[in-house]
Amino acid sequence: MDKKYALVTGGSRGIGKAIALKLAQSGFSIIINYRSNHKEAEKTLSELKELNLDAQLLPFDVSDQKAVNEALNQWHSQHADAYIQILINNSGIRKDALLLWMKDEEWKEVIDTNLNSFFYVTRHLMQNMLVNKYGRIINIVSLSGLKGLPGQTNYSASKGGVISATKALAQEVARKKVTVNAIAPGFIKSDMTADIDEKEHKKIIPMRRFGQPEEVADLVDFLASEKSAYITGQVISINGGLYT
Ligand code: NAP
Repeated sequence: MDKKYALVTGGSRGIGKAIALKLAQSGFSIIINYRSNHKEAEKTLSELKELNLDAQLLPFDVSDQKAVNEALNQWHSQHADAYIQILINNSGIRKDALLLWMKDEEWKEVIDTNLNSFFYVTRHLMQNMLVNKYGRIINIVSLSGLKGLPGQTNYSASKGGVISATKALAQEVARKKVTVNAIAPGFIKSDMTADIDEKEHKKIIPMRRFGQPEEVADLVDFLASEKSAYITGQVISINGGLYT
């Protein structure tokens, strides 16, 4: 049987790693993207291989259009006839600051990494999904992109942009059985939230705890499956009741 490929951007650590593992257990051949932390990526790859799961590494900077095109063109030239049917746009960064003090690069880097990357990677893979009349695009956004959080105008704008793009693109490609959805996590335990005081913040979460990356991965797994065929253009929150 032909392999079914899933690309997880930022799949080497945190939420992306849990998604890579879960989708691999569901039978997908996983392409794990990351930017520069080779050690963590190699560790993640070994963990999957030890479980006899099918995965490979594909490092590139999602915010660099040329790098995205080069890496994906090369992957396709090495995998003739294969197509990536599942795309998880998960890589992301935060660089928090009050707008008044925000540096140009803090605005630009967050928009490039979290929003422009969506355009670069998704456009590249879209044609094959349309030709094959099947695809799943799942964008990991954030509560910050729904509600807006002070100190995160750059991050909220980037995630809010992806939420709107999700809704628009879903309507463009629905006829071809390509679905496009977004998942908006609240506080999830990962390197990104390592500097956030869980004891303090959990008081405002109705479930009184941070979420686990694996809980996000379970939702991704469903949206990536054939069972979710009639769900598109949606933003699904996973936040312990923090924002409804
Ligand atoms: P994380 O632990 O910091 O991991 C980030 C991942 O993204 C790493 O694999 C990293 O690669 C990769 N990455 C960062 N910039 C990249 C770039 N320019 N090109 C390619 N890969 C890049 O983050 P996380 O907490 O798992 O977050 C995953 C996603 O969930 C993000 O989009 C984040 O905004 C979103 N989210 C997270 C939370 C939360 O509470 N954690 C809440 C809401 C939304 P390297 O290892 O090479 O740096």
